[in-house]
Amino acid sequence: MPKTYERREFLAGLLNFPPATMLLGLVGPVKLLAADGGDEYDPTEHYYAMGIRVEECIGCGKCVQACKLENDVPDEPFYFRTWVERYIVYTDGDVQVDSPNGGMDGFPPVADETFPPVAAGKEILRTFFVPKLCNHCDNPPCVQVCPVGATFKSQDGVVLVDEDYCIGCRYCIQACPYGARFLDPRTHTANKCTFCYHRITKGLLPACVEVCPTQARVFGEIGDRSTPLNRMLRMSHLEVLKPHMNTDPKVYYTALDGEVR
Ligand code: SF4
Ligand code: SF4
Repeated sequence: MPKTYERREFLAGLLNFPPATMLLGLVGPVKLLAADGGDEYDPTEHYYAMGIRVEECIGCGKCVQACKLENDVPDEPFYFRTWVERYIVYTDGDVQVDSPNGGMDGFPPVADETFPPVAAGKEILRTFFVPKLCNHCDNPPCVQVCPVGATFKSQDGVVLVDEDYCIGCRYCIQACPYGARFLDPRTHTANKCTFCYHRITKGLLPACVEVCPTQARVFGEIGDRSTPLNRMLRMSHLEVLKPHMNTDPKVYYTALDGEVR
């Protein structure tokens, strides 16, 4: 079952940030130049998260397309930084999940007899779409297992990979409970969602958020009460994926069905 966040529990979490690793000095400062080349980007002044409103996602796949283009993700249909899954729930309780080409081209209607193989004699109760990506976990197992420190959590809460240090051992790929990482066949280094770090450090939205026609994806600063993300986090019933793994994801879902895994 997804973990449920009550409003009070979440707000208590906000008061705890920055995370303990920062306070303990376990993560070093990362300084980047802002877009205008003037002000330095200071990660200690930010703390990011993403909200996903499952009830708004129409499975159009625009987010997946935008991510592939923006981040030069390999074309092959098994490399994704973000993808969309469709859940088909039957009246007898069975659940079927599909994600053709990561949902990049949208989804064929369930009434299409050629795809997916809706089980004969079964009646569909409901269908819904769940966008997925790296959860930028506050307690990331991928970081814990990296033998060379190539994958790390920045002070702004974003989990990143330093290609120059990555030795392609795949430990992080195996450790991630969400299947969010892949080995880039071109560089033989670990690759995954960065929340479009090159964009957000310039004050831009991640590409997937920018293009979503229904605002199913919401991105922003956890600590800024004026942002749509903060409002969503304060006003909604929130859940995260695989809460039993104790990874403390920072991708929060609304209207997440109990069938989602
Ligand atoms: Fe690491 Fe996976 Fe969590 Fe992303 S979702 S921070 S890759 S464990
Ligand atoms: Fe869902 Fe928005 Fe992605 Fe379309 S762009 S699949 S609506 S999250």
